[in-house]
Amino acid sequence: MREIIVSQKAASFTESVIREMTRLAIRHDAINLAQGFPDFAAPQELKDAAKRAIDADINQYAVTWGTKSFRDAIAAKFEATYGTSVDPETQICVTCGSTEAMMAAQLAIVDPGDEAIVFEPFYENYGPDAILSGATPRFVTLHEPDWSFDEAELRAAFNSRTRAIILNTPNNPTGKVFTRAELEVIAELCQRWGVVAITDEIYEFMTYEGTQHIPMLTLPGMEDRTILINAMSKTYSVTGWRIGWTVSSPTLTGGIRKVHDFLTVGAAAPLQEAGAVALQFPDTYYRKLHDEYVERRDLMLGILERAGFKTYKPYGAYYIMTDCSHLGFDDDVEAARWLTAEAGVASVPGSSFYRDADLGRNKLRFSFCKKLETLNAAGDRLAKMFR
Ligand code: PLP
Repeated sequence: MREIIVSQKAASFTESVIREMTRLAIRHDAINLAQGFPDFAAPQELKDAAKRAIDADINQYAVTWGTKSFRDAIAAKFEATYGTSVDPETQICVTCGSTEAMMAAQLAIVDPGDEAIVFEPFYENYGPDAILSGATPRFVTLHEPDWSFDEAELRAAFNSRTRAIILNTPNNPTGKVFTRAELEVIAELCQRWGVVAITDEIYEFMTYEGTQHIPMLTLPGMEDRTILINAMSKTYSVTGWRIGWTVSSPTLTGGIRKVHDFLTVGAAAPLQEAGAVALQFPDTYYRKLHDEYVERRDLMLGILERAGFKTYKPYGAYYIMTDCSHLGFDDDVEAARWLTAEAGVASVPGSSFYRDADLGRNKLRFSFCKKLETLNAAGDRLAKMFR
């Protein structure tokens, strides 16, 4: 009889290292600076809006590609922020978080045998996403300390099989914010080779020290060849709500909507109603979000440096990549496990962000989307360990 096994696809990647570190943190009662979710409350107005929507009996399937009020709010916010209008009727698909958005986008445009370019270090979902959609990932390295790419290496990665390039700016795990000049190089290559840029912009409103987030979609010639991905998860501190979206040309959106419909039918209807309220928050909301993250970042940079880590200052998102050579481990996974068990502070091993694990062997990533008191408690534990 044939042995019952999982598919080659499912067998070809491992479980999420980040979520494994969260389980380890729970086991050791460690402070979890591994997974990127806030330990502080979501905005009260947003929670009230969700409760109102449930009480108003918005509890059945929404339109598969998203409720009208939410799509209208997404389009209005995008135009108000970047001056570019998008049609909520034909260019937006609401998804179950940006995770589903990325998967649906790749399934919608990639065929087996196509190649997808991915910058490394990368957010760990991108590898399995490419495998599940049948694409062969090709990696282009972002080099520390400023996480720049070598233009010649990028040019060499494009060829006639390239179908997509995955770009995450502001970037997890490095904190890099791609500059307009860098985006223009990528845009020129996309246009030359007929490639779609899938841009994960989930940390859109977390940019520091004058850096500016520029959506690839707004660059000349990119409007029909960009799939912008975003979500409520980070901007409104609701990672558990699972509400995201794509913005792209009507043609690309048509493909994404079909894939999305058969993957999930749709995202939570009452939470989309609340999302429409969130996207109309005044500018003061985003300024406060920014200022609070700057304070957390600066606090955490100091804590890590005092504990002997070499830090790579992030200019966006809410993670700090570090060099942890001083811990004396050859293996970052061992280092992260040791720090969790012995110091009571959980981080993510650097190798989980690289195809070539050796590039991450001396690195650990810490997230700082936590209350100041949580970060200070982690600081006390590290100070005790490394005094
Ligand atoms: N994209 C990036 C770059 C992330 O860092 C994360 C979460 O950490 C996600 C996507 C997941 O987003 P969502 O919760 O909206 O699925």
